Amino acid sequence: MTAAPAVEIRGVRKSYGAHEVLRGVDLTVRSGEVVTVIGPSGSGKSTLLRVVNHLESLDAGTVHIDGELIGYRLRRNMLHALPDREVRKQRSRIGFVFQQFNLFPHLTVLDNVTLAPLSTHGRTAGKRRDRKEVEAEARVLLERVGIGELADAYPRRLSGGQQQRVAIARALALRPRVILFDEPTSALDPELVGEVLDVIRDLAHGGTALVIVTHEIGFAREIADTVVFLDAGAIVEQGTPQSVLDNPRHPRTRAFLSRVR
Ligand code: ADP
Ligand code: MG
Repeated sequence: MTAAPAVEIRGVRKSYGAHEVLRGVDLTVRSGEVVTVIGPSGSGKSTLLRVVNHLESLDAGTVHIDGELIGYRLRRNMLHALPDREVRKQRSRIGFVFQQFNLFPHLTVLDNVTLAPLSTHGRTAGKRRDRKEVEAEARVLLERVGIGELADAYPRRLSGGQQQRVAIARALALRPRVILFDEPTSALDPELVGEVLDVIRDLAHGGTALVIVTHEIGFAREIADTVVFLDAGAIVEQGTPQSVLDNPRHPRTRAFLSRVR
């Protein structure tokens, strides 16, 4: 038996009112694979990430993480929405790094990282995890993203690049199967972009699948196993960086790439 993919998106549709934002998206992300998603503003990139961890409900289709159906339970061939508590538990196993960092301002860096693993959702097999052990692990993660010395600082004292590295450590703390990044460097001053890309580069191919929405085409080319071009809610083209970025087949991919570089 082969292992389930890290992420399996099938036939996903999502509308806001009359506006269909995702128009039947299929995407498989293998265990440990790095997928970068590019596309024009408004094409549905953020919505796609948000349906993966069920921050948005679906109008059609399914999302599986590691073989587990997200947001719903299948009973008598019908999908039934899971209770919020169950969804939160599922979501806690999917890392999410936002453009705006979304750290808790009233918590130290260390507490931001340990909050979720120490919460009820962080329980493994129903057992609350040991605080000392979780904190020790969090300190290792902060070292790994290069800010070990900032464990006791509050987010407002940190640069944007440092805050985003805390957010990445926080995502890692739940040992997720996949981390979703929504334009992780677009809110940063240009001189801070590099340090965050370096951290993401270090995570790549370390066993955790990464799905990265980015406008950094050079980075997308360098890091990705697969590049996905999303336009108007549909995947227009996907493949290796060489095929999609250097030899795009679709005119819309070519038009987009000529605009962004
Ligand atoms: P992208 O991340 O590619 O820029 P988004 O997924 O954020 O695109 O948005 C896709 C489209 O869906 C846009 O037209 C946006 O205005 C619309 N949209 C996103 N979220 C909502 C919402 N909560 N309510 C209504 N429209 C939305
Ligand atoms: Mg977006």
